Amino acid sequence: MGITAKNFIASYTKPESLITEEYPEEKPKLPENNRNFPFLVFDDDPDAGLRCVSCKICERECPPQCIYIVQERDENGRPVKQPKVFDIDISVCMSCQICVEVCPFDAIKMDQEYELSSLDRFDPLIHDRQRLSKSNEYYHSIHPAEAAAVDAVLAEKAARKAGNKKAADNES
Ligand code: SF4
Ligand code: SF4
Repeated sequence: MGITAKNFIASYTKPESLITEEYPEEKPKLPENNRNFPFLVFDDDPDAGLRCVSCKICERECPPQCIYIVQERDENGRPVKQPKVFDIDISVCMSCQICVEVCPFDAIKMDQEYELSSLDRFDPLIHDRQRLSKSNEYYHSIHPAEAAAVDAVLAEKAARKAGNKKAADNES
């Protein structure tokens, strides 16, 4: 009763101290560790910069099998390290994050988008590659600490790769 009385008086004297959010006009800023469904990260370009190499590890490891991937092929039918199709059925996804844990390329991360309801039970709940692809800047905006750590790891890998290539060039 004391808290109720305090808040009642504060609603007149200090309205700014109340924490009621005017959703949907005001969208709440979610805590960094909040997660719901996965998305695919790209650097700079949504096509060429997609980190996913279509290795299909996530598809294999997803417990409810809600990821569907078809690898891209070039004009000669040779496999290309990119997904042609990458679908996630979010009506089945249980937000376990296993796909994120197993991806060796930091290509798939957990999103915080929550306005996903639909009157249609089927198509809008299957997120395709285009819908899943989001920039690294977006990743930084929702999980800043995690994204910065991933950037550091990727930069280190790139530097090591460049160093190995230079050493190989010098030897030949
Ligand atoms: S998201 Fe990662 S694990 Fe899944 S197919 Fe792409 S690169 Fe492989
Ligand atoms: S979060 Fe879990 S259930 Fe959802 S796509 Fe990833 S592995 Fe599958």
